Amino acid sequence: MIDLYSDTKTRPSPAMRRAMAEAEVGDEAAFEDPTVNRLCARVAELLGKEAALFTPSGTMCNQIALAVHCQPGDEVIVEASGHVACYEAGGAGANAGVNLCSIHGDRGRFTPEQVRAVLRPALRHAPRQRLVVVEQTCNMGGGAVWPIDALDAVAELAHAQGMRTHMDGARLLNAVVASGVPAARQARHYDSVWIDFSKGLGAPIGAVLAGSAEFIDHAWRVKQRLGGAMRQAGIVAAAALYALDHHVERLADDHLNARRLAAGLAAIPGVRLDPTTVETNIVVFDIDPERLGMDAPTWAARAAERGVRIGAFGPTRLRAVTHLDVDAAAIEQAIAVLNQACRAA
Ligand SMILES: *Cc1c(COP(=O)(O)O)cnc(C)c1O
Repeated sequence: MIDLYSDTKTRPSPAMRRAMAEAEVGDEAAFEDPTVNRLCARVAELLGKEAALFTPSGTMCNQIALAVHCQPGDEVIVEASGHVACYEAGGAGANAGVNLCSIHGDRGRFTPEQVRAVLRPALRHAPRQRLVVVEQTCNMGGGAVWPIDALDAVAELAHAQGMRTHMDGARLLNAVVASGVPAARQARHYDSVWIDFSKGLGAPIGAVLAGSAEFIDHAWRVKQRLGGAMRQAGIVAAAALYALDHHVERLADDHLNARRLAAGLAAIPGVRLDPTTVETNIVVFDIDPERLGMDAPTWAARAAERGVRIGAFGPTRLRAVTHLDVDAAAIEQAIAVLNQACRAA
């Protein structure tokens, strides 16, 4: 199976597993795990923040950040297709008690003018607007990268309005490799930021959330409350450290493969996709079901029967994601199979 459903499908390599097996460990929740401590120090530095904490998932990083920055009843400004709005099982409401105000952006990105347009008057009747969330890269925006000026401009407006800023950096390192702008620079004006290790970096579990020392102090209490405090977690943190050493620069290969895949897909009649918009490892595209001869779920199902997995999100939208378990030859094979799967109609 060539699995392009998500970059979460990567499996730990033999060398990563060796690093895990040999990890020095201790009680993470008591700050006694040296491998976790090393990982947190390293990611705090990478992201230009004072402190960091290790969590089981990126979802938990977002949930912690919402709860630390906001009070119940506060409003959080997000992009409509973002992870916080769409894929956290309503956790923003259930865990942090916040309301979401959605902006419809350009492939996941939005402008200060769009934030300005949803600002509420400072009335007792209105929810207090407390936080602006950006995603770098934008997952359902097809891996689109926020330019640094756009990130800075949104943060500047948010801060001027008395709000805080949070960067969902699940794939921030993809944006770093694609743009050449260092992670700490991208996150400079964001009060909290995290990176995921279980996506393109190829680790089995784990994410690290960073911010000021005060923010991380408070974040620890929420992590404890959510059941995210761990014990000998160094076994997992070792995989993340291995990924930082060995799996960052190679993200450029995934980006190249995504562009190759996009070019192959764009040549299929009925596919609506401009390959020049593909900047990182995610290809989100639409189809015209009449020209293709089938809808998106049917195409995905037929491709899966032939050994290629991509995601269908609704009747016309699909997503394919490249990662370290898919090489250039597999991409060529995937293009051929996707062609056959729709011609078979
Ligand atoms: C995957 C993802 C998350 C959630 O991360 P998990 O580790 O799967 O919980 C959050 N935001 C974005 C943009 C993601 O792609």
